[in-house]
Amino acid sequence: MARIVMKFGGTSVGDMDRIRNVAHRVRAEITAGHQVAVVVSAIAGVTNRLVAQCRQLARTQMPWFDGEYDVVVATGEQVTTGLLALALRDSGVPARSWQGWQIPIRTNEAHGKARIDSIDSAPLLAEMAEGSVPVVAGFQGIGPDGRMTTLGRGGSDTSAVALAAALAADRCDIYTDVDGVYTTDPRIVARARKLDRITYEEMLEMASLGAKVLQTRSVEMAMKHRVPLRVLSSFTDTPGTLVCDEDEIMEHHLLSGIAYSRDEAKITLTKVADRPGIAAAVFGPLADANVNVDMIVQNISEDGRTTDLTFTVTKADLERAVAVLRASRDFTFERLIPDSNVAKISVIGVGMRSHAGIAQTMFKALAERGINIAVISTSEIKISVLIAEEYTELALRALHSAYGLDAV
Ligand code: ADP
Ligand code: ASP
Ligand code: MG
Repeated sequence: MARIVMKFGGTSVGDMDRIRNVAHRVRAEITAGHQVAVVVSAIAGVTNRLVAQCRQLARTQMPWFDGEYDVVVATGEQVTTGLLALALRDSGVPARSWQGWQIPIRTNEAHGKARIDSIDSAPLLAEMAEGSVPVVAGFQGIGPDGRMTTLGRGGSDTSAVALAAALAADRCDIYTDVDGVYTTDPRIVARARKLDRITYEEMLEMASLGAKVLQTRSVEMAMKHRVPLRVLSSFTDTPGTLVCDEDEIMEHHLLSGIAYSRDEAKITLTKVADRPGIAAAVFGPLADANVNVDMIVQNISEDGRTTDLTFTVTKADLERAVAVLRASRDFTFERLIPDSNVAKISVIGVGMRSHAGIAQTMFKALAERGINIAVISTSEIKISVLIAEEYTELALRALHSAYGLDAV
């Protein structure tokens, strides 16, 4: 007998037939003698609609700064917990729904992007021991002030992994609308290949660099608690992808995958005085305004006394970053050039640690397609470049072929 957490994403619970299909999958595990806890997302599209409604009525505030945003968007998951519990009972499996606050799933106070602090596993374990299936609302928690919180977009993945860790589950199965983790987004590159296994580290980079198949924090948590994680389809019976430790993978490819993010914007400051402390003067106020800066390059200008600084922020932060920089009195510059027409493309693989020439393949493949690189950043197992957004798909396909990742 194994203890399993099964998580079903928005498309998997997209309509009543699909919810019935989910109930059948859960029943199959129960019939096989396993204990199961289920985590569900809202029906596909519902969270987007709720977020848009918040924005319509809170135009002058960032709605997620207070808990009312969470109260609204968390309703999507409430609906699917109830519906799946009904479907399970209808198919002869005892079940009950659980909202985040009922368990409780305790989080910090960061409304709209809360982090899980603890989960009380006792009531769920008791229910499972009786042969009933707890159907838990993903995405939801309760803050220190007793108000509802939500975990950020895609947060049900994190709910599922956190629950698996708290229940000491044998594995956490993430059911979605693709049958595993691919070398790159299969919706963009038709020749993307499904990976049988990927390391936690690589998956963490893939997710944080834009592959939305798993929320970044869910991978962080799986890695920390060594939760075996599977990504698989709720519509087919193919085996999916196992996210696991490096030593569980026999054969490493040079690269595991390519990720992209259109959520980037670039800011260039020209002719900033080149003196000690200038980076602190520019980036300090941005950090104070909660703007995350990602890639940074600095070029010495011709006169040697000034420098051009280019860096990236998220598209959502661009306006705020520009306002902060224009308001600052701690440094001067000639021009401030914002550009939201950019995308970040990243190649990822633990093989990079032991192989040279990987960056060169990337630069050459992009050059051959006439794609200009604006900024480069690297770490031990990834290389990222910033390019014009309209070349995203071309770049992904070119790199996918150049690294020999295309499915045959
Ligand atoms: P769910 O609603 O089940 O949580 P998501 O839409 O959040 O599903 O995540 C699944 C989607 O992630 C896929 O439909 C796919 O387009 C996208 N995706 C991006 N990169 C990858 C990748 N490398 N492998 C698989 N899917 C990916
Ligand atoms: N429903 C939430 C969202 O769309 C959480 C999730 O699906 O993981 O972001
Ligand atoms: Mg998701």
